[in-house]
Amino acid sequence: MNHALNISAANPNAPRLDGSQPHLPPSLAGMTRAQLRDAAIEIGVDEKKAKMRAEQLWRWIYHQGATSFDEMTNISKDLRAKMADRFTLSRPKIVERLVSVDGTRKYLIELSPGVECETVFIPDVAKSGALCVSSQVGCTLNCTFCHTGTQALVRNLTAAEIAAQVMIARDDLQEWPTSNENRKITNIVFMGMGEPLYNLDHVSDAIDTISDGDGMAIGRRRTTVSTSGVVPKIKELGERTGTMLAISLHATNDDLRDELVPLNKKYPLAELMDAIRQYPGLGNSKRVTFEYVMLKGVNDSLAEARALVKLLKGVPAKINLIPFNPWPDSPYECSDWDQIEAFADVVNRAGYASPIRTPRGRDIFAACGQLRSESKKVRASELRKQRLAGEA
Ligand code: SAH
Ligand code: SF4
Repeated sequence: MNHALNISAANPNAPRLDGSQPHLPPSLAGMTRAQLRDAAIEIGVDEKKAKMRAEQLWRWIYHQGATSFDEMTNISKDLRAKMADRFTLSRPKIVERLVSVDGTRKYLIELSPGVECETVFIPDVAKSGALCVSSQVGCTLNCTFCHTGTQALVRNLTAAEIAAQVMIARDDLQEWPTSNENRKITNIVFMGMGEPLYNLDHVSDAIDTISDGDGMAIGRRRTTVSTSGVVPKIKELGERTGTMLAISLHATNDDLRDELVPLNKKYPLAELMDAIRQYPGLGNSKRVTFEYVMLKGVNDSLAEARALVKLLKGVPAKINLIPFNPWPDSPYECSDWDQIEAFADVVNRAGYASPIRTPRGRDIFAACGQLRSESKKVRASELRKQRLAGEA
């Protein structure tokens, strides 16, 4: 789905509900093809030529990583000037950048005043690296072990803001122009802040932008979307994006999962497993990743390991055991290492290879579930009030 930009808003200074900033010209960085076409028309390009201009912009923005219109040598000076008058190529601001001893990098990104999200680059031991992106600021779900869950939902990210997280990391890692050799960011995981399936329109548009072969070219098979189990959206995710699916499972029975992932009360395990089985294209080369956070004395017994293997029978699956990352005042402890290994052994013997996820970036609080910006909750009513004030 495309989200046309309302670039002819009556009052250009009015705060925008899509998150873009008042007072500043809109940025083309992160826009979909359709939005770039609209932008070309907005500056006077003939409708018939707008598609071609949008293609040129696309290559400059997403293949070259252009940050200035001056670089766009196949576009006339006159047109470049008009573009620069009306638009920018700026990215959302990095307010904090932390680099871990293990190479993990964490960016705190300001999307609009007081609204921040986190993005984490995790270099792998092999020649690959994953960028963990956020889809929402905060989260409406309250998984009891997750720090993001303690923060109220501020808002959904736009497709442009999701794509811009990749652009920001590529700027920092000097990954422009797009090349197929020695890439640092080879994979995208939607495992940052928020529940991607509650923002599927924007997540899907952003994946179109990130995966496009004429642009950043990070393929759909190298993109994984993690959900806590929004059952009615799982099949749709596969149909619209073709990405890999990850499920935050964490428990093998409804009683415990109701407690850890309260969304389970709405969509219990049997329904969840049914929805997973219907994920398009599942097979040996397209397995579902099951994430299982190891909580001491809560879900880490060997009986639960066996129950896990039983539950996943017949589903092409990978298992990812995540050592729990504590955060201040978190109500759980991480399982003992011996217990994690014994649990992994059971899973291993059932045919699932290397199931333990090594914690990365712990020194910069960049590990799973530790992402939580300090931005305040802004209610929709408050945003409306701000907008009305801007229009007055
Ligand atoms: N909302 C989505 C994606 C973001 S969370 C989801 O829940 O799947 C990404 C992963 O980090 C999930 O598997 C989540 O369960 C896990 N996680 C959350 N808090 C954690 C913590 N404190 N320690 C380890 N993993 C955690
Ligand atoms: Fe939200 Fe995922 Fe954290 Fe649960 S684990 S609170 S769904 S971000």
